[in-house]
Amino acid sequence: MSAPASDPSCIFCAIIRGEVPCVKIYEDDNVLAFLDLHPVRPGHTLVLPKTHAATLLELEPGSGEAVIQAMRKVGRAMRAGLGAEGFNCLQNNFAAAGQEVMHLHWHVIPRNKGDGLAFIWNPGKYADQDEMAAWAEKLGAHI
Ligand code: AMP
Ligand code: ZN
Repeated sequence: MSAPASDPSCIFCAIIRGEVPCVKIYEDDNVLAFLDLHPVRPGHTLVLPKTHAATLLELEPGSGEAVIQAMRKVGRAMRAGLGAEGFNCLQNNFAAAGQEVMHLHWHVIPRNKGDGLAFIWNPGKYADQDEMAAWAEKLGAHI
């Protein structure tokens, strides 16, 4: 099999090429998973496609399934091996959304009730159905 497309300036591509070390959790032809160096919980794992894609928008159509199956393996292992009751799969796109490494990756984070980890999530509300429809219209025009 040919080597996946690689970006010479990308730290995660360097890890995939084996030039930078990582603590590997899972690997197959298409996906690599390794421990995040700065875990928000012990066992916090990054799951990424081996072919370089900066964000979800650059992901090759058809490549997502391999990543999802790898996340399922990691999530299952967190429940079986770490005693995690649950897990979060989070993914940031572009700096405005908190992306620091521009190689598409998912954070898989083991969770337990009362573990103290909280995401800032302030739910708002729409004024009425017309406002909801207006937002949907803006999106729908570009789908
Ligand atoms: P994001 O903000 O979604 O781009 O997340 C990037 C993540 O990559 C951060 O949680 C970093 O701790 C992690 N990270 C950066 N460099 C490395 C590395 N060499 N090995 C493991 N994790 C890394
Ligand atoms: Zn890369």
